[in-house]
Amino acid sequence: MPNTEAKSAEKFTNFTPYEPAKGEEYMSAGQLEHFKQILLNWKQELMEEVDRTMHHMQEDAANYADPSDRATQEEEFSLELRTRDRERKLIKKIDQTIELIDREDYGYCDSCGVEIGIRRLEARPTATLCIDCKTLAEIKEKQTGI
Ligand SMILES: [Zn+2]
Repeated sequence: MPNTEAKSAEKFTNFTPYEPAKGEEYMSAGQLEHFKQILLNWKQELMEEVDRTMHHMQEDAANYADPSDRATQEEEFSLELRTRDRERKLIKKIDQTIELIDREDYGYCDSCGVEIGIRRLEARPTATLCIDCKTLAEIKEKQTGI
């Protein structure tokens, strides 16, 4: 059975870290372009992954006649459907982030307005909160139990 976790594209690392020039301002045209490329490549990778899963499911569906095989297969399918659902949500989030870049509204914390930072954005290109606000939000989440 193929390991679906291993080829998960939920984290994108296939890029060269951006080195700002001396005195370069935060979210310069070059930086916006850098992050747009990361997001576009990441989206491309995710779409290919969704295609592969679809194809794999269609191929497999025809190959099982035995009911116990089918049960195993259904489990496998529901796992793949969940993965695809996550990927689809991620693609939507990437699209929204690309819109932010196009509006030059990218890279600042939604909550407090501070610069999120190039390294944090490279680790999490769809981040909309700075590390402090994110940590705070996670603590609140745990407290309310959502
Ligand atoms: Zn913040």
